[in-house]
Amino acid sequence: MNVSDTEIIWSILKKTGYQKTDTMTEADVILLVTCAIRDAAEQKIWHKLVHLKHYKKWRSLRSDKPPLKVGLLGCMAERLKHKLLETDKIVDVVAGPDSYKDLPRLLSLTEDNQTAINVILSYDETYADVTPVRINQDSVTAFVSIMRGCDNMCTYCIVPFTRGRERSRPIASILDEVSHLSDQGVKEVTLLGQNVNSYRDLSESKFATADKSDPKLAAGFKTVYKPKVGGLRFSDLLDKVSQINPEMRIRFTSPHPKDFPDEVLQLIAERPNICRNIHLPAQSGNSTVLERMRRGYTREAYISLVEHIREIIPDISLSSDFICGFCGETEEEFADTISLMQMVKYNMAYLFAYSMREKTTAHRRHEDNVDPKVKQDRLRRMITIYRTEVQKLNEAMIGRQYLVLVEKKSRKSEFNMQGRTSGNIKVIFPRGSIQDNRCTTKSRNIEAGDYVVVQIINANSQVLKGIPLYHSSITQYALSTGNHYERMAYNL
Ligand code: SAH
Ligand code: SF4
Repeated sequence: MNVSDTEIIWSILKKTGYQKTDTMTEADVILLVTCAIRDAAEQKIWHKLVHLKHYKKWRSLRSDKPPLKVGLLGCMAERLKHKLLETDKIVDVVAGPDSYKDLPRLLSLTEDNQTAINVILSYDETYADVTPVRINQDSVTAFVSIMRGCDNMCTYCIVPFTRGRERSRPIASILDEVSHLSDQGVKEVTLLGQNVNSYRDLSESKFATADKSDPKLAAGFKTVYKPKVGGLRFSDLLDKVSQINPEMRIRFTSPHPKDFPDEVLQLIAERPNICRNIHLPAQSGNSTVLERMRRGYTREAYISLVEHIREIIPDISLSSDFICGFCGETEEEFADTISLMQMVKYNMAYLFAYSMREKTTAHRRHEDNVDPKVKQDRLRRMITIYRTEVQKLNEAMIGRQYLVLVEKKSRKSEFNMQGRTSGNIKVIFPRGSIQDNRCTTKSRNIEAGDYVVVQIINANSQVLKGIPLYHSSITQYALSTGNHYERMAYNL
């Protein structure tokens, strides 16, 4: 999300005449786009600020350059507000996630050696009218923000306080951006929101499919806020986005388990360009902890949802987020998280030790009483279980063939390329020339942005290794593997 925000910030500043440099010593303004989700994220920024303090002082002694200005943007700015201007006088500009359009004005104020701050949160800012400037222009993948803020108020989480109320970006502006990216040769777009399943475009009444009914949650799920009704939902958006270019892969993150609609599952099952991976953040495997976290589901409801998803899309890969050591978490409660991980078997998991955040409900109502050493020990145990399970999943892929989107040269060896399966699993394979398609003797080089069929020959817990067989496309591959693509409305 911060990558996506940085692209919005570039676009706003570029319009007012600012230029970007990747070399720090060339910059007259340094902007830090920050995260506040855990204390560790903020500590990184504090270290950076110490470094910048020395650099700023050193530079002020050089007469040929204007004084360096430092801006602190994003969630940490929103959380700490004026406090950031008071500390050590390193920071000149503080701007929260909803005030990026004000940045040119804030920066101009610093020309008179003033400090400037805007941390006002908005009910409607979605930056729909800003076309992001991509940080890595050559990348074949891109992020597209579809909504901002969050109304869920999970008790451990700072996001609703730093990113404000949930609001959806109008569908027309999302479709425009994705079409534009497709024209630029981008082959994979990830739609971003804190809870994409509650996406509602209330601005578009002209679409006939608009649903006016009150969304019903399945048994075992509840919500703390009244879901919005009417307008267009996430399934409508996914339907339209996936039709822009059948050769462009679509991913999305994060859907909240509490309101996962069947329409979204049906679309994933039917459309080969919607990737077969669902990020389903569990946070804990114990119903009492989930209740304390105010996640809106029980362990049983979460497991039923996983079973339901796998009935509709048997080859789906699942990823998740887990927190260990949340307030009052006992050894027995933690054991339920481990057993959930073993039961579900995730292809990817982001694992965190709980970090108490001020302002959250947990801060007011609960005690951060799990010893830091116990938290770290539980984190290590989660990592071990996750790695053991994912190694088994990856080894089961050996001998099979997958359609891989080639992303770039491998970081570790210039003789290898890297890409991902539709299930979002990283694959490394040798560069070179391979058959142009399955039934030809003609060959051509493998380039970033190509779809290549790869035979998996080796696997560990992090990556698959394979042999590239032939070039293909999403459409051709779906037809050859009997995916239900024929039912699609595209003209093949
Ligand atoms: N909206 C997303 C989560 C965004 S935050 C969702 O609900 O899935 C990304 C992840 O950070 C969360 O899923 C959670 O696992 C983790 N996280 C959030 N607050 C945290 C905290 N106080 N301590 C540790 N991890 C936290
Ligand atoms: Fe935080 Fe919960 Fe919102 Fe995710 S859904 S951003 S965890 S409050």
